[in-house]
Amino acid sequence: MMTQCLECGYTEIIPDLNVFTKLTTQNTDEILYMALEDPAHKGAPVLIGFRAAICGDCGHVEFYTRRAADLQDAHKKGYVTRKTVS
Ligand SMILES: [Zn+2]
Repeated sequence: MMTQCLECGYTEIIPDLNVFTKLTTQNTDEILYMALEDPAHKGAPVLIGFRAAICGDCGHVEFYTRRAADLQDAHKKGYVTRKTVS
C-alpha cells in the first residue's frame, strides 16, 4: 500500500477507503468493483472491489485491491474483463 505520496512525497496517507458509486436507478450505494468473466460462460464471475489510499496533502489517489491473488487466479484461468452493458 502507498505509504508515501508518489506525486509530492507527503507521508500522511489516508489508507484503505472503500470506493462507492451511486446507481441512478436504485437508491443504494454500491462498491466500485472489477468484474472478470469466463469467456466460455462456465465459471462464476469474479467480482473484486477497489480500495483507495489518498494523499492528505495533494489528494493523489491510488486504487488497489486486497484480493490481488483472486484476480490473478481468474486471469490465469483466462477470465476477461466484463464488457459494459449499455
Ligand atoms: Zn501528495
